[in-house]
Amino acid sequence: MVKLVQPVSFDESEIARAGLARIEPVAKPHRDRPAEGLIKVLAIDDDGDILESLADALSASLYTVKTTNSFEHFRGQLGDFDPDFIVTDLAMPTHDGMDVLHVLRDQAYTGEVIVMSGKDGHILDSVRRVATSYGLNVAGVLRKPFTPEQLLAIVGRNGGERSTEDSRVLRALSDRKIRPYFQPKIDLKTGRIVGAEALSRWHHPNRGLLNPQAYLKSKRPASKNAIHDFTILERATEFCAKLQSIGQDMKIAVNFAADVVLSDDFPEVVADAQRRHGIPPERLIIELTEDETTEKFEELAERLVKLRLLGVELAIDDFGTGHSSLSRLQHLPVSELKIDRSFVSGLDESSTNLAIVRSIVDLAHSLHCSVVAEGVETIEAIDALRQIGCDMAQGFVFSPAVNDSTFIALVRDSPFVFQS
Ligand code: C2E
Ligand code: CA
Ligand code: CA
Repeated sequence: MVKLVQPVSFDESEIARAGLARIEPVAKPHRDRPAEGLIKVLAIDDDGDILESLADALSASLYTVKTTNSFEHFRGQLGDFDPDFIVTDLAMPTHDGMDVLHVLRDQAYTGEVIVMSGKDGHILDSVRRVATSYGLNVAGVLRKPFTPEQLLAIVGRNGGERSTEDSRVLRALSDRKIRPYFQPKIDLKTGRIVGAEALSRWHHPNRGLLNPQAYLKSKRPASKNAIHDFTILERATEFCAKLQSIGQDMKIAVNFAADVVLSDDFPEVVADAQRRHGIPPERLIIELTEDETTEKFEELAERLVKLRLLGVELAIDDFGTGHSSLSRLQHLPVSELKIDRSFVSGLDESSTNLAIVRSIVDLAHSLHCSVVAEGVETIEAIDALRQIGCDMAQGFVFSPAVNDSTFIALVRDSPFVFQS
């Protein structure tokens, strides 16, 4: 039977005491003028003339503008179009501007919001306050009728030197507001913490701690994702070195989107971070996030083989969920499989899940790979995984991802005791 002791409280205020020196992101944000159509604007109004003049005002090639008078269409476009700016009218017949703001709040929209209305300034001011209290970024309010110049003054502030979501993400990265938290990986034989997965978190000034779903967009250009992932890599290797300096030899896993792995400088950036921080290459695990759109196995393999030859490890994340899981295994120099949470949850209750997990564990071992169960939430699941012979586990039953100092406290207290 497994016993868990949890003496450490996860105190967010400890972050300030983490004590790591401030550094700049390894990859610098591009300062060039954005490419054509890069600034995406989505506008909703029931007045077609307003939408038309808005689209005219933003007709420069810098902008891509979508307009709609339908709330449902607007909702759909939020995810698909992924706008930098949302312009909304306040008074509309079926759903009004407040409904729009509610949707944006619920979806944790991180772009800019512009509110327009024919109503007087008082109403606009209080709407601005409400939106800010929802954690939304209000770029400005437009009193109707407005001139193209007034709109452009807000959207194109300082000739394109704008504060869109991407630039805020970049700033948060360099200010360490976005940085990795660390979820412990536990050796299922001993109960010891043997490593961690670095998971990106944003300490947002208005919204508190954000998970990556709120700001990591797969549709963002690869260069932007690379800045994010490489900065997380930089912080994670730095933390690995810090652990090493206090006598804790931990393996640290870092997540990478496939398009980042495909970037030309990927092997060099990873090897450089490992060398600069003086950690042995085998302490670093690249986690390849399953991405159904990438079938470029040959190119991925080329970049990853270089790192595997150095000694860096490669884990296939969410194993079993993509239709190409086995192809990945066939093509890539894998050293670890991470069993997706969907198979691990309910493991002790579902004989199907148990059979799937058992065969993934067997498959991994016959390929001389280690195997990690993700999303372990119950003691019963730990017992089942130990019986199957799964090597490692991570999940809320042990700990969520925590900040540096809490992770160090966890490692020192070694709270997970297995009594078999
Ligand atoms: P993932 O790599 O599969 O990470 C595991 C996710 O499951 C994390 O969500 C983690 O907080 C959550 N989790 C851990 N244990 C449990 C559990 O017991 N139960 C449940 N229900 N969930 C658990 P998170 O941090 O929100 O990350 C979501 C995804 O975002 C990650 O999924 C990963 O694909 C991506 N991601 C995170 N950090 C990075 C990064 O630095 N770069 C890239 N490219 N992707 C990242
Ligand atoms: Ca992962
Ligand atoms: Ca995963």
